[in-house]
Amino acid sequence: MKVLLVEDDQPLAEALADALKDAGLLVEAVTTGGDADFLLKTERYDVVILDMGLPDGNGNHWLSQWREEGIDLPVLVLTARERWSDKAAGFSAGADDYVTKPFETAEVLFRLRALVRRSHGHAHPVLTIGDLAFDTHTGQVTLAGLPVTLTTQESRLLAYLMHAAPRLVTRVELSEHVYDRDQEPDSNVIDVQISRLRRKLGSDRIETVRGQGYRVLEADQSR
Ligand code: CA
Repeated sequence: MKVLLVEDDQPLAEALADALKDAGLLVEAVTTGGDADFLLKTERYDVVILDMGLPDGNGNHWLSQWREEGIDLPVLVLTARERWSDKAAGFSAGADDYVTKPFETAEVLFRLRALVRRSHGHAHPVLTIGDLAFDTHTGQVTLAGLPVTLTTQESRLLAYLMHAAPRLVTRVELSEHVYDRDQEPDSNVIDVQISRLRRKLGSDRIETVRGQGYRVLEADQSR
Protein backbone atom coordinates (compact mmCIF):
# COMPACT_ATOMS: atom_id res chain seq x y z
CA MET A 1 0.00 0.00 0.00
CA LYS A 2 1.49 3.29 -1.12
CA VAL A 3 0.59 6.51 0.68
CA LEU A 4 1.09 10.05 -0.57
CA LEU A 5 1.48 12.31 2.47
CA VAL A 6 0.92 16.04 1.85
CA GLU A 7 1.87 18.00 4.95
CA ASP A 8 4.00 21.15 5.27
CA ASP A 9 4.68 20.77 9.00
CA GLN A 10 8.00 18.91 8.62
CA PRO A 11 8.36 17.43 12.14
CA LEU A 12 4.76 16.22 12.04
CA ALA A 13 5.19 14.82 8.51
CA GLU A 14 8.38 13.00 9.47
CA ALA A 15 6.87 11.49 12.61
CA LEU A 16 3.77 10.35 10.73
CA ALA A 17 5.78 8.98 7.78
CA ASP A 18 8.04 7.03 10.16
CA ALA A 19 5.07 5.53 11.97
CA LEU A 20 3.40 4.53 8.70
CA LYS A 21 6.64 2.99 7.41
CA ASP A 22 7.03 1.07 10.67
CA ALA A 23 3.57 -0.35 9.99
CA GLY A 24 4.85 -1.65 6.62
CA LEU A 25 3.39 1.03 4.35
CA LEU A 26 5.26 2.78 1.57
CA VAL A 27 5.16 6.54 2.05
CA GLU A 28 6.11 9.47 -0.15
CA ALA A 29 5.96 12.81 1.59
CA VAL A 30 5.62 16.25 -0.02
CA THR A 31 5.06 19.67 1.52
CA THR A 32 2.99 21.48 -1.12
CA GLY A 33 -0.19 20.96 -3.10
CA GLY A 34 1.77 21.57 -6.29
CA ASP A 35 4.19 18.71 -5.61
CA ALA A 36 1.29 16.43 -4.69
CA ASP A 37 -0.47 17.45 -7.91
CA PHE A 38 2.57 16.50 -9.96
CA LEU A 39 3.00 13.11 -8.24
CA LEU A 40 -0.69 12.23 -8.47
CA LYS A 41 -0.45 12.70 -12.23
CA THR A 42 2.77 10.73 -12.71
CA GLU A 43 2.72 8.01 -10.03
CA ARG A 44 0.26 5.56 -8.53
CA TYR A 45 -0.89 5.63 -4.90
CA ASP A 46 -3.50 3.78 -2.87
CA VAL A 47 -4.47 6.63 -0.57
CA VAL A 48 -3.65 10.30 0.09
CA ILE A 49 -3.24 12.03 3.45
CA LEU A 50 -3.88 15.72 2.82
CA ASP A 51 -3.26 18.59 5.21
CA MET A 52 -5.78 21.41 4.86
CA GLY A 53 -3.40 24.32 5.47
CA LEU A 54 -0.73 24.17 2.75
CA PRO A 55 1.67 26.95 1.70
CA ASP A 56 0.32 27.04 -1.88
CA GLY A 57 -3.39 26.94 -1.26
CA ASN A 58 -6.04 25.36 0.86
CA GLY A 59 -6.21 21.54 0.79
CA ASN A 60 -9.87 21.82 -0.24
CA HIS A 61 -8.84 23.77 -3.32
CA TRP A 62 -6.40 21.07 -4.45
CA LEU A 63 -8.75 18.25 -3.58
CA SER A 64 -11.72 19.62 -5.50
CA GLN A 65 -9.44 20.19 -8.49
CA TRP A 66 -8.22 16.56 -8.36
CA ARG A 67 -11.77 15.25 -8.09
CA GLU A 68 -12.80 17.35 -11.12
CA GLU A 69 -9.90 15.84 -13.02
CA GLY A 70 -11.11 12.34 -12.20
CA ILE A 71 -8.47 11.46 -9.60
CA ASP A 72 -10.62 9.19 -7.48
CA LEU A 73 -8.37 7.53 -4.92
CA PRO A 74 -9.35 7.76 -1.24
CA VAL A 75 -8.29 10.94 0.57
CA LEU A 76 -7.93 11.32 4.34
CA VAL A 77 -7.88 14.98 5.36
CA LEU A 78 -5.82 16.31 8.27
CA THR A 79 -7.37 19.37 9.80
CA ALA A 80 -6.28 21.54 12.68
CA ARG A 81 -9.73 22.98 12.74
CA GLU A 82 -12.51 21.88 15.00
CA ARG A 83 -15.24 23.86 13.29
CA TRP A 84 -17.93 21.77 11.66
CA SER A 85 -18.02 24.07 8.63
CA ASP A 86 -14.37 23.26 7.84
CA LYS A 87 -15.04 19.54 7.94
CA ALA A 88 -18.11 20.01 5.76
CA ALA A 89 -15.96 21.93 3.25
CA GLY A 90 -13.47 19.03 3.19
CA PHE A 91 -16.19 16.49 2.47
CA SER A 92 -17.71 18.76 -0.18
CA ALA A 93 -14.33 18.95 -1.88
CA GLY A 94 -14.22 15.16 -2.06
CA ALA A 95 -12.58 13.93 1.15
CA ASP A 96 -13.44 10.40 2.28
CA ASP A 97 -12.55 10.83 5.92
CA TYR A 98 -10.76 13.24 8.23
CA VAL A 99 -8.64 13.31 11.38
CA THR A 100 -8.36 16.40 13.58
CA LYS A 101 -4.93 17.44 14.85
CA PRO A 102 -3.49 16.50 17.27
CA PHE A 103 -4.17 12.86 16.43
CA GLU A 104 -3.03 9.41 17.47
CA THR A 105 -1.00 7.76 14.71
CA ALA A 106 -2.90 4.53 15.36
CA GLU A 107 -6.14 6.28 14.44
CA VAL A 108 -4.68 7.48 11.15
CA LEU A 109 -3.58 3.90 10.40
CA PHE A 110 -7.02 2.44 11.17
CA ARG A 111 -8.70 4.98 8.97
CA LEU A 112 -6.21 4.58 6.10
CA ARG A 113 -6.58 0.82 6.06
CA ALA A 114 -10.36 1.03 6.14
CA LEU A 115 -10.35 3.54 3.25
CA VAL A 116 -8.12 1.35 1.10
CA ARG A 117 -10.13 -1.77 1.93
CA ARG A 118 -13.40 -0.02 1.08
CA SER A 119 -11.95 1.32 -2.16
CA HIS A 120 -11.41 -2.32 -3.19
CA GLY A 121 -14.95 -3.23 -2.10
CA HIS A 122 -14.11 -5.03 1.16
CA ALA A 123 -16.07 -4.25 4.31
CA HIS A 124 -14.48 -6.78 6.66
CA PRO A 125 -11.00 -6.03 8.08
CA VAL A 126 -9.88 -9.63 7.54
CA LEU A 127 -9.59 -10.49 3.86
CA THR A 128 -10.13 -14.20 3.21
CA ILE A 129 -9.71 -16.35 0.14
CA GLY A 130 -10.56 -19.95 0.96
CA ASP A 131 -8.61 -20.76 4.12
CA LEU A 132 -6.04 -18.03 3.51
CA ALA A 133 -6.66 -14.95 5.68
CA PHE A 134 -4.96 -11.55 5.80
CA ASP A 135 -5.77 -9.25 8.71
CA THR A 136 -5.52 -5.71 7.31
CA HIS A 137 -5.06 -4.21 10.79
CA THR A 138 -2.40 -6.49 12.25
CA GLY A 139 -0.85 -7.65 8.98
CA GLN A 140 -1.10 -11.22 10.22
CA VAL A 141 -1.49 -13.95 7.63
CA THR A 142 -2.96 -17.33 8.49
CA LEU A 143 -3.39 -20.45 6.43
CA ALA A 144 -6.00 -22.92 7.70
CA GLY A 145 -5.85 -21.03 11.01
CA LEU A 146 -2.06 -21.32 11.40
CA PRO A 147 0.15 -18.22 11.29
CA VAL A 148 2.44 -17.73 8.30
CA THR A 149 5.56 -15.57 8.72
CA LEU A 150 6.24 -13.22 5.81
CA THR A 151 8.90 -10.59 5.19
CA THR A 152 7.69 -6.97 4.89
CA GLN A 153 7.97 -7.11 1.12
CA GLU A 154 6.18 -10.47 0.83
CA SER A 155 3.45 -9.10 3.07
CA ARG A 156 3.04 -5.99 0.87
CA LEU A 157 2.75 -8.17 -2.23
CA LEU A 158 0.21 -10.52 -0.70
CA ALA A 159 -1.80 -7.65 0.79
CA TYR A 160 -2.07 -5.97 -2.60
CA LEU A 161 -3.04 -9.21 -4.38
CA MET A 162 -5.65 -10.02 -1.72
CA HIS A 163 -7.17 -6.55 -1.80
CA ALA A 164 -7.48 -6.84 -5.58
CA ALA A 165 -8.70 -10.47 -5.69
CA PRO A 166 -10.35 -12.01 -7.63
CA ARG A 167 -9.08 -9.42 -10.11
CA LEU A 168 -5.84 -10.16 -11.90
CA VAL A 169 -2.99 -7.78 -11.05
CA THR A 170 -0.43 -6.89 -13.71
CA ARG A 171 3.30 -6.74 -13.00
CA VAL A 172 3.31 -3.03 -13.77
CA GLU A 173 0.55 -2.45 -11.23
CA LEU A 174 2.44 -4.48 -8.63
CA SER A 175 5.67 -2.61 -9.24
CA GLU A 176 3.82 0.71 -8.89
CA HIS A 177 1.95 -0.11 -5.69
CA VAL A 178 4.23 -2.45 -3.80
CA TYR A 179 7.72 -0.98 -4.31
CA ASP A 180 9.27 2.39 -3.57
CA ARG A 181 9.79 4.61 -6.59
CA ASP A 182 13.58 4.52 -6.17
CA GLN A 183 13.67 0.72 -5.98
CA GLU A 184 11.20 -0.26 -8.69
CA PRO A 185 12.01 -3.87 -9.43
CA ASP A 186 12.61 -5.64 -12.70
CA SER A 187 10.11 -8.41 -13.33
CA ASN A 188 12.64 -11.00 -12.15
CA VAL A 189 12.50 -9.58 -8.62
CA ILE A 190 8.71 -9.84 -8.59
CA ASP A 191 8.95 -13.45 -9.86
CA VAL A 192 11.39 -14.37 -7.11
CA GLN A 193 9.19 -12.84 -4.42
CA ILE A 194 6.08 -14.53 -5.81
CA SER A 195 7.88 -17.90 -5.71
CA ARG A 196 8.84 -17.29 -2.09
CA LEU A 197 5.20 -16.55 -1.29
CA ARG A 198 4.18 -19.74 -3.08
CA ARG A 199 6.64 -21.74 -1.00
CA LYS A 200 5.09 -20.36 2.18
CA LEU A 201 1.44 -20.51 1.13
CA GLY A 202 1.33 -23.54 -1.15
CA SER A 203 2.17 -23.61 -4.83
CA ASP A 204 -1.41 -23.36 -6.06
CA ARG A 205 -2.39 -20.18 -4.18
CA ILE A 206 -1.03 -17.61 -6.58
CA GLU A 207 -1.76 -18.10 -10.23
CA THR A 208 0.53 -16.66 -12.88
CA VAL A 209 -1.37 -15.69 -16.02
CA ARG A 210 1.33 -15.75 -18.63
CA GLY A 211 2.20 -12.32 -20.01
CA GLN A 212 -0.53 -10.70 -17.90
CA GLY A 213 0.01 -10.95 -14.17
CA TYR A 214 -0.97 -12.68 -10.97
CA ARG A 215 -4.00 -13.46 -8.89
CA VAL A 216 -4.69 -15.18 -5.59
CA LEU A 217 -6.87 -18.26 -5.80
CA GLU A 218 -8.69 -20.54 -3.42
CA ALA A 219 -6.54 -23.65 -3.33
CA ASP A 220 -9.00 -25.83 -5.24
CA GLN A 221 -9.83 -23.28 -7.97
CA SER A 222 -6.58 -23.85 -9.80
CA ARG A 223 -6.85 -27.60 -10.06
CA1 CA B 1 -0.22 22.92 7.42
